[in-house]
Amino acid sequence: MARNPGSITTYMIKLLHFGRSCKAYLRLYMDHPPDVLLDCEDCGCRLHKHGRYYRSVTTKREMLRIPIYRQYCPDCGTTVSLLPDFLVPWARCVTWVREAAMVRRQKGFTWRQILTSTASPSVRYSRRTLKRWRKRYEQKAASAAMRLASQLTRAGYDGDLLGMYPEKINPGPADTLNWLQKLLSIYCPVKPWRRGYWAFLNTRLPVAEQL
Ligand SMILES: [Zn+2]
Repeated sequence: MARNPGSITTYMIKLLHFGRSCKAYLRLYMDHPPDVLLDCEDCGCRLHKHGRYYRSVTTKREMLRIPIYRQYCPDCGTTVSLLPDFLVPWARCVTWVREAAMVRRQKGFTWRQILTSTASPSVRYSRRTLKRWRKRYEQKAASAAMRLASQLTRAGYDGDLLGMYPEKINPGPADTLNWLQKLLSIYCPVKPWRRGYWAFLNTRLPVAEQL
């Protein structure tokens, strides 16, 4: 959430499920805004449709431009961008490609193997981008894992979630990533086909904590 200096407008981003792929999203929403009814998180007033902007998205095979729809609160001026769940505000690449790259890294693939196996040559991203993703993943994994663990516990899961942490003495970032993977497989027992876990998980995390 950011306030624009000199005005009272507040900008927010909300991740929602708008279809299972980027192509499906384009088919449905290229020319029509999604029919979602949202209330303002600041004042509770019903939001109104408020135009769109375009952003580029890199999928496994191509770069696309997609519309991002906005809604507006007539009462307090808050503007909300409705991002499809396969995106996060800070990355151009779709979430399931980033997840696939990070899962391969956990399995011991080299950066080069990851680059060649997760995207076609026409959209290949750089090793530097991969390392930036990895850094973010390591920074955010612990808070995502803690949130999952507490949600599972609240939902009545009675297994020893902390006991699943792989290394109790001198744990490193890789141990936290492994723990997060284990929690995700409990949290979403059926892995969504081709979509991975993160797109689903991100809709349940605050924007600053999204993977
Ligand atoms: Zn409002």
